[in-house]
Amino acid sequence: MRYIVFFVIILTVIACGNSQEKKGDELIPLSDNKDTTVLSYYEKNKGNSEKSKSLGTVSNGKLTNGKLLPFYGKNFSYFDKGSYLDGRAYVNGRVLNTILASYKKLEEVAPNRKFKLMESANREGGKLYPHRTHKNGLSVDFMMPLIKDNKPYYKLDSLGVTHYLLSFNDNGAYNKDTAVTVDFNLMAQHILILNEKAKQEGLKVKKVIIKIEYKDELFATEYGKKLKASGVYVVKGLSKMINALHDEHYHIDFGEL
Ligand SMILES: [Zn+2]
Repeated sequence: MRYIVFFVIILTVIACGNSQEKKGDELIPLSDNKDTTVLSYYEKNKGNSEKSKSLGTVSNGKLTNGKLLPFYGKNFSYFDKGSYLDGRAYVNGRVLNTILASYKKLEEVAPNRKFKLMESANREGGKLYPHRTHKNGLSVDFMMPLIKDNKPYYKLDSLGVTHYLLSFNDNGAYNKDTAVTVDFNLMAQHILILNEKAKQEGLKVKKVIIKIEYKDELFATEYGKKLKASGVYVVKGLSKMINALHDEHYHIDFGEL
């Protein structure tokens, strides 16, 4: 509960236009220093072996037999311990399979890159305050990969929930250090992989939400051109607040194929 109150406060702050950012810690390699609390939480709460059901819509729905995203993977991890232990990292089992298959593929095509998952849904779906969607286990937030001097940049990855507050300009450069930019090509590649792996689960990437001003940069990249040609729907208009919130993560709604 304390976590939710904190999250609401920080998102209220950004909605008012005052971003409060802090410097990230150095990247801790994923294989080291695994947190035993989250590991045992995962074991106890990963979900049953029954099929998940996503009922209703992403904005008015619920989830039965939800599955918990693993906190750690070979090339990915979940972004915030408090969010995780509050049960905000559940998805439909078919979405879980899709995400895990996408990271497996990224091990091959983007070796040495590490990725972060952000919030998804409550165990039984419903309102995930303050998100407007994320209600039936088919919505997932992914942290945008960053680069600096053509090298992967991870120093902003360990901020936890305050990552949602980071602010980037319309070209995808971090406002406090414009040498740090969104890796649009890699993001496009990941979205295409997610769509491909979703098909094996009878799903597709139904909607991608990113800051509208990013679309030019995204579609100008090698994989961005393929993404545009693929017909995956990238949102066309957003309210000012929702637009401002999607400069450091990409939100994906999965849907039936
Ligand atoms: Zn989202």
